[in-house]
Amino acid sequence: AKPVKEDAAIADAALIGIGVKKEVDFPSWYQQVLTKGDMLDYYDVSGCYILKPWSYGIWEQIQKWFDGKIKEMGVENCYFPMFVSQRVLEREKDHIEGFAPEVAWVTRAGKTELEEPIAIRPTSETVMYPYYAKWIRSHRDLPLKLNQWNSVVRWEFKHPQPFLRTREFLWQEGHTAHLTRPEAEEEVLQILEHYSGIYSELLAVPTIKGRKTNKEKFAGGLFTTTCEGYIPTTGRGIQGATSHCLGQNFSKMFDITVEDPSAREGDIREKIHIWQNSWGLSTRVIGVMVMIHGDNKGLVLPPRVANYQVVIVPCGLTVKTTKEGRDSLYDDISRIEKELRAVGIRVKADTRDSYSPGWKFNDWELKGVPLRIEYGPQDAKKQQVLTVRRDTGEKAPVAQANLTKDIQALLDTIQGDLYTRAKASFDSHIKKVYKWEDFVPALNAKNVILMPWCDAEECEDDIKERSARKEESDEPEDSRAPSMGAKSLCIPFKQPEGDEAIVPGVTKCPQCGRDAKFYTLFGRSY
Ligand code: AMP
Repeated sequence: AKPVKEDAAIADAALIGIGVKKEVDFPSWYQQVLTKGDMLDYYDVSGCYILKPWSYGIWEQIQKWFDGKIKEMGVENCYFPMFVSQRVLEREKDHIEGFAPEVAWVTRAGKTELEEPIAIRPTSETVMYPYYAKWIRSHRDLPLKLNQWNSVVRWEFKHPQPFLRTREFLWQEGHTAHLTRPEAEEEVLQILEHYSGIYSELLAVPTIKGRKTNKEKFAGGLFTTTCEGYIPTTGRGIQGATSHCLGQNFSKMFDITVEDPSAREGDIREKIHIWQNSWGLSTRVIGVMVMIHGDNKGLVLPPRVANYQVVIVPCGLTVKTTKEGRDSLYDDISRIEKELRAVGIRVKADTRDSYSPGWKFNDWELKGVPLRIEYGPQDAKKQQVLTVRRDTGEKAPVAQANLTKDIQALLDTIQGDLYTRAKASFDSHIKKVYKWEDFVPALNAKNVILMPWCDAEECEDDIKERSARKEESDEPEDSRAPSMGAKSLCIPFKQPEGDEAIVPGVTKCPQCGRDAKFYTLFGRSY
């Protein structure tokens, strides 16, 4: 039997555990997983949150990976001020129209009213491009590829959600300038590929790549590409990250031109407006990962981004254990820790004396550490360790002779399995719809919908309206999102083929009856 002290500790740990079920009260579950999992704390300015080391470390892993990828593409990091004057912010009309409602303004310093209010960047197109106009003097200055890792402020009035929608958020914003349209377009897709790589390779989250409709594209841009995710518990889509081709709209407004390098000697060299892109990925990615992989015991972190991939917990020590026995166990653990660390595994030996093994198990489960190693005198005798997977709870002994190889393999398996499960769930919730009557019931059954569509903005508005009406449904409503209408999420690059392919002039849009141009993904979304 376990010592009484340990039983009490396990009961304590249960108290600090997640008090609600993910399937029953998702919003409370999400809050608890984040705060009890040590990712984040609430702050006294609504819509702003504190990122604690446990989540900031995940952001650092993402930064490291993506920063490497963009540097390979010749992108350089820089930093521009967070303030922007009204005159400059309002230079591109469509752009400011899109952002105006969310811009926060500084109007006062101390007790003095500022002569002119100053805006806080909601994104940095207008901050940076006056300087692009100054710095880009000839085609030899192209391409110009800058990125910044910064924060932006969007004073959103929709219900804030930690990570997913916050008023200040961390992101990277890339801003590049090119001589030609094909060069710009090629880069837009390269970046989107890296964004979807962050989701699939690091966060074990599947996304669908595609283009936004005109209604949903970036304000002032030419076209927007996106990777879209899916949260199974609520059946809602989420915009994962966006890579925009801005075309020449901004270069015309900010007068960013070069002389046409293809003009021949003696000809008058015409001024041409350059082509621009901007692309951004925010800390939202962390929220998506938590919502998808987390369970009723807390966070489940994919090994590629977890601060600790492995935690070692000493077990089986009792009041009867001799000092020698205990020292020898701790020496072994220290050696195991070093061996794993030497091959690049992020490992932590939890040798806190004041907590029982049971308490530690709960604590690390709450924090989502992918793999636990239990090590006690019996394991020492057998020259093995006992591994316990966070995602499945599966236990397996591993011989110490194969330690590093087998642990690495296990971590790879966990990473792969998390992705496979999330992908199967997403795939099984994409419903193809060919009759309007099927649209809302499919939506209410927590699906996203892939439907032949006409590409007309008014039809998109109608879809939103018609799907917002409350339909009979057994599902408990998410109280904070009462049956919202469906938006277009994206026009997937990968379109259904063969028998399901759109036949021009024959396939109709189920909502309005016009000719369908392509399949479009619709869903309720965050
Ligand atoms: P945008 O500049 O609007 O294309 O935004 C770039 C990316 O930032 C989006 O794809 C979102 O993933 C993310 N994002 C936008 N608004 C927010 C917000 N309020 N909080 C967190 N992330 C956001």
